[in-house]
Amino acid sequence: VRIVALRLRTLAVGGAIRNAAIGFDGMTASALALVTDQVVDGRPLVGLGFDSIGRYGSAPLVESRFGPRLRALDPALLDDPVAVRAALLRDEKPGGHGERSIALGLIDAALWDLAAKRAGVPLWRLLAARFGMKGAARVPVYASGGHYRAGDDRAALAEELRACIGRGHTRLKIKYGGLPPDADRRRLEAALRAAEGAALAVDLTGACGTDPAALHATLATLRDLPLAWIEEPVDPLDLALHEAAAAATPTPIATGENLFDAQEVTNLLRHGGLRPARDLLQMDVGFCGGIAGALPVLAALEAGGWPRARWWPHAGHLFAVHAVAGLGLGGHETAMDPASPFGGITVEAGEAAPPEAPGLGFEAHRALAAVFEGMLD
Ligand code: MG
Repeated sequence: VRIVALRLRTLAVGGAIRNAAIGFDGMTASALALVTDQVVDGRPLVGLGFDSIGRYGSAPLVESRFGPRLRALDPALLDDPVAVRAALLRDEKPGGHGERSIALGLIDAALWDLAAKRAGVPLWRLLAARFGMKGAARVPVYASGGHYRAGDDRAALAEELRACIGRGHTRLKIKYGGLPPDADRRRLEAALRAAEGAALAVDLTGACGTDPAALHATLATLRDLPLAWIEEPVDPLDLALHEAAAAATPTPIATGENLFDAQEVTNLLRHGGLRPARDLLQMDVGFCGGIAGALPVLAALEAGGWPRARWWPHAGHLFAVHAVAGLGLGGHETAMDPASPFGGITVEAGEAAPPEAPGLGFEAHRALAAVFEGMLD
């Protein structure tokens, strides 16, 4: 099979919401369609990929740097995204991965979509078969949202959480650290009341930065609350302050969504003071370079004595569901908004079934299918 066209689009995926670190007004994500010369039912077979949310669209890097290399590859490689990753990283210096991992993840997703479609199976079943896993027909899920909106948003937040519980969720996560402490605490207490016995976590989005005093003051505001976990309390790369956070609270710490490479994860596991029996890792499969980039991250977990079930990837859409189900990861983060490309998965008693359609199943997901409208003609 040959790639005959590589189509990219960057879409606005944000809105008037924010967390402790950023606003989402200008947030974007990119979509990639790899059109092949293979014809199925009279139409060319197409591999689809879509960025995760939170780091802006990766299309410019695909267009200028990795797309031309992909086009120049031996077509025989295309069924093996792990080999493609190695080829695309030729002449790339080690370390400092940053945004290039996101572009590689977008390409990787589209290649796996193609490979699974060609095999006639959903990606999670292909991954399980290829990497010696059982595959999970249901995966644990949590609903992620609770962003700050303008003004006093406690009533809207409580309504958002109750709606999630009504849709079958048993685990919820909201933002924290973005208001003065008293107002933030009142907002969190309102959320805990609305959560009505569901597990509730808070995401600080690195709000305490590299400041130990800010960390300890913030943890003090959370001390007596029944939280499922405290996410990203400090700068993603301040390993010493991670260690201080882990030592300062009995509540699980969750982090890792801004680490994009196996060596970055190894450093966190070696020096961040996190505990495999208690804490959670959240590297984003797409931002780590996709499945081919996630495999060395899994090896880093195993080398560090971490069960893969402690990895709950950041900010998924269907690509992450397949990774969780196919590679035996812990669970899936889905957006609270069911109309979002990052949400819309059917949940029952806190679990969701990964798609059974061949490939990633984007075509059967209303919001994800809309992303690719007009790109496939
Ligand atoms: Mg987060």
